[in-house]
Amino acid sequence: MSHAGTAQQTAAPLLEIDGVTLQYKTSEHLVTATRNVSFQVYPSDRFVLLGPSGCGKSTLLKAIGGYLNPVAGSIRLKGREITEPGPDRMMVFQEFDQLLPWKTVRQNVEFALHASGRLRGAEMRERAEHYIAMVGLAKFIDSYPHTLSGGMKQRVSIARGMAMEPDVLLMDEPYAALDALTRRKMQDELLRLWDDTRFTVLFVTHSIEEAVRIGTRILLLSPHPGQVKAELNSIPESELGTASQSALEARINAMLFSH
Ligand code: ADP
Ligand code: MG
Repeated sequence: MSHAGTAQQTAAPLLEIDGVTLQYKTSEHLVTATRNVSFQVYPSDRFVLLGPSGCGKSTLLKAIGGYLNPVAGSIRLKGREITEPGPDRMMVFQEFDQLLPWKTVRQNVEFALHASGRLRGAEMRERAEHYIAMVGLAKFIDSYPHTLSGGMKQRVSIARGMAMEPDVLLMDEPYAALDALTRRKMQDELLRLWDDTRFTVLFVTHSIEEAVRIGTRILLLSPHPGQVKAELNSIPESELGTASQSALEARINAMLFSH
């Protein structure tokens, strides 16, 4: 397309999912989790995979993580086929089970760098300090996780993922177990952090509201086995809470439940 050259149309895609079919083979069954799924993630996208439970969202994330190879199609990061896990794709887990409680903020971030064999010594310390400052936690670098709010803990875990300098952060329903108010706070924190750093994130959810709030782009998947129903732009943050949010949610709802 030649009209209105947005960043999305001019930059090369970071992540290309091309006709991907994913299956699980057990001794008795062959389960097709996703069928012929294609999409492209661009730098600084907040790309959301949205679909009902069991449609293969986690399976897609696992495949992008390199833990599962497609039976058909291909997954490419910066043009290179993904065949195994790598530090260029970091998974950010749910806030409550991801930080080591006996380690400070600094130690949590350094531990990841050290354990992966990426950095040691002064370089490791500087890298950790840089990313902890980037997420606005410089003052809390020597604090223990239990003294931090949920939003701050999320920032630490994102700093830990970012310190590995991945191309994309992968988040699989990170807020699914939280109450509605906490969930909203964590979503807002993620958006503030994205405003500051413009990291690329691939975010999985089954909540239409969450998809509209978090995503810049939203991929709708059909129920099991997951196939692409549609891909759409979300609304700007300034339009959250207005009629355009409810209109988009209603539109998505209709698309997800049509056959
Ligand atoms: P979602 O994350 O969208 O809820 P999943 O990716 O977890 O969906 O699962 C997609 C389908 O694959 C489901 O039918 C699920 O039962 C099946 N599945 C997931 N993991 C396994 C596994 N390890 N072995 C066999 N089937 C699996
Ligand atoms: Mg899942």
